[in-house]
Amino acid sequence: MEAYFDNNATTRMDERVLETMLPFFKDVFANPSSMHRKGQEANVHMEKSREKICEILGIEPLELVFTASGTESNNLAIRGAVKAYKKRGNHIITSRIEHPAVLTTIKELEKEGYEVSYIDVDTNGVLDIEQLKKEIRETTILVSIMHANNETGVIQPIAEIGKIVKEKGIVFHVDAVQTVGKLEVKPKEMGVDLLTFSGHKFYGPKGVGALFIKMGTRLTKILTGGHQERKRRPGTHNVPGIVGMAKALELCEMERKEDYKREKELRDYFEEEMLKRVPEIMLNGKEADRLPGTSSVTFKYLEGESILLRLDFKGIAVSSGSACSSDDLKASHVLLAMEIPIEFAHGTIRFSLGKYNTKEEIDYALEVIPPVIEGLRNMSPLWNEFINK
Ligand SMILES: *Cc1c(COP(=O)(O)O)cnc(C)c1O
Repeated sequence: MEAYFDNNATTRMDERVLETMLPFFKDVFANPSSMHRKGQEANVHMEKSREKICEILGIEPLELVFTASGTESNNLAIRGAVKAYKKRGNHIITSRIEHPAVLTTIKELEKEGYEVSYIDVDTNGVLDIEQLKKEIRETTILVSIMHANNETGVIQPIAEIGKIVKEKGIVFHVDAVQTVGKLEVKPKEMGVDLLTFSGHKFYGPKGVGALFIKMGTRLTKILTGGHQERKRRPGTHNVPGIVGMAKALELCEMERKEDYKREKELRDYFEEEMLKRVPEIMLNGKEADRLPGTSSVTFKYLEGESILLRLDFKGIAVSSGSACSSDDLKASHVLLAMEIPIEFAHGTIRFSLGKYNTKEEIDYALEVIPPVIEGLRNMSPLWNEFINK
């Protein structure tokens, strides 16, 4: 049996998305910026896709820029905004738990001389709004806070933060890569000026993302080249990707409520059973509002990587900490920000379910995991020390 529980890293593309994309690799392949009929035909389809996405998000077609990824959208939003508002100040506010695409971008800017306030989260992973309020200065030009965290699934009160930031007239960027397609996301109702999302996180293709740029928000472009996307993002459009992302979002929107309910039921069942079957575990962010399919489980006295490898051997795909830190074995900055002791943070596994997961897969995991954990603990000096106490 095989079970893919790594949907926060990427999702399997929906067959219906693939079908929609295929003609755009074959017949309708022309460059949508070309003036001939073939090009204009591609352009019509691309603009229809843009309208479809905008309708779902409640925004205007002029307010959406296509990019090559969530990472690129985050870079464009953050670097583009601080450059455009440079005369007004040099202070940025973000959280300690952002995705590396935001955090490392802001760390770079900090090296270049920008001042940065990193807002804490509580032990459930929810942002300290009072601290955010206190950190706002005359020179604050950008606030960047993620919608849902990729490691824990914990959802931030974006509308509440948006209200505070808006009152001060500061640009508000939200990394919504983990929520678009899963939750209802209406950037304008949440007081958001810039919002990032990415096709491959909601059953669309990889290599295509987008950035909502609210009308009136100034943004300096970060790439130089042609005039595409009204000079905001140069580069030949990824038409199959854009068409596929629009189709994927449309499907998610249609099936969102059922998918949410199914995923949440499976996740809750998984967590309840895990608590019964495996001693000394922690469910991170359990008390907070969370994405329906994400379960961050800390197996005390173990290393996440050894659990991951054992589960992989049994056909179960999971992630330890965040996928992006899996090549350096540092403890997750997200879990540390939640004050999970470093020695426990190392033993954390993220199970992220998606719409293709079944009850059978969960039952298989529930059968496989307890003996794997027991086996590893029997060899763990930390565990034996704990047991002998
Ligand atoms: C995956 C992810 C990204 C990066 O998106 P890519 O399209 O893979 O570049 C950014 N932020 C969050 C929260 C993510 O989960």
